[in-house]
Amino acid sequence: MKMENHYKLIVIGSGPAGLTAAIYGARAELEPLVIGGTKYGGQLMLTTLVENYPGFKDGIMGPELMMNMIKQAERFGAKMLFKDATKVDLSKSPYKVFVNEDVYTCDTLIIATGAEARWLDLPNEKALIGRGLSTCATCDAAFYRNKKVAVIGGGDSAMEEAHFLTKFATEVTLIHRRDEFRASKAMQTKVLENPKVKVLYNTEIKGYIANEGIKEGNPSNTLRLKALKLFNNKENKESELEIDGLFIAVGHTPKTDIFKGQLEIDQKGYLKGLDGSTLSAKTNKEGVFICGDVEDYRYRQAIVAAGAGCSAAMEAESFLNGLKDKKLLVG
Ligand code: NDP
Repeated sequence: MKMENHYKLIVIGSGPAGLTAAIYGARAELEPLVIGGTKYGGQLMLTTLVENYPGFKDGIMGPELMMNMIKQAERFGAKMLFKDATKVDLSKSPYKVFVNEDVYTCDTLIIATGAEARWLDLPNEKALIGRGLSTCATCDAAFYRNKKVAVIGGGDSAMEEAHFLTKFATEVTLIHRRDEFRASKAMQTKVLENPKVKVLYNTEIKGYIANEGIKEGNPSNTLRLKALKLFNNKENKESELEIDGLFIAVGHTPKTDIFKGQLEIDQKGYLKGLDGSTLSAKTNKEGVFICGDVEDYRYRQAIVAAGAGCSAAMEAESFLNGLKDKKLLVG
């Protein structure tokens, strides 16, 4: 084993959870290595203005917030590696994290690999993110005050998004590909009883219409989503729906592939905490901690992830102090 690749603490992930863990870990002099991914910074890198992160009274752009967190972690001594962890070996301590051929070992590991919102994968989708397309009503609903919006999906998230949006928008069209929702009855009732909500069942979104032509890779500042191309799969009918915003709520995919068979994963693919608990920093593996959206399908908020990152780092520090007392520390 090359000891120069050994760290007291490795953090995998560089969203709000991972970077907060890195800031706390670095300030506790654990000199963490953050394996932050090639697509570093997490989901906020895909947003525009963030208005609900405390401390920024006028809001802050998502990518700017994340770059600030990276610099803050570096300022306290965290080392950033913007590569993807490709494999882990958690069978015994020191734990191993692989980045292709390179191996990094650690006494304690914090996993903050996050989750990815699922998109519809339609043409020009990327260019319209933050310009009418969103996957988070809690974050973006206020931009649609007195406007017309749509939500796609039939699960609890879609219901929650639609309900939240009725506080701002004049009209919320809920679009679902089947004639029955999978959301809990209570959530459905709350939404369907709201006079602002209109439902389009058996309807799929086939394309986006913007207010101007879309230049690949470099969308203009005035580009906005204007309408949706719809298809009713029961009546075989196409139509268009004019809207100001679309909230996509077709599920999230937690990034847990490399932990399969080594940590407990629930039916939805999220990491499970100690003894199956959710929103817990500890796992059943001593010295391995989890935080953020990789274990949290419920809140999925940057501030919750950041808080969880702090808890994970404090647990990691306390675990390392225990190892030091027992003279078991490798690094
Ligand atoms: P779900 O997987 O439950 O629902 C996703 C919805 O999106 C489904 O209705 C599905 O349709 C639809 N869908 C999937 N792919 C597409 C597509 N390509 N085009 C159109 N529609 C699509 O995800 P959620 O995020 O809603 O919920 C995830 C978990 O989190 C659930 O267990 C849920 O109960 C939980 N949750 C709990 C909350 C709470 O308790 N407050 C709040 C939010 C979520 P179809 O039904 O046809 O498959």
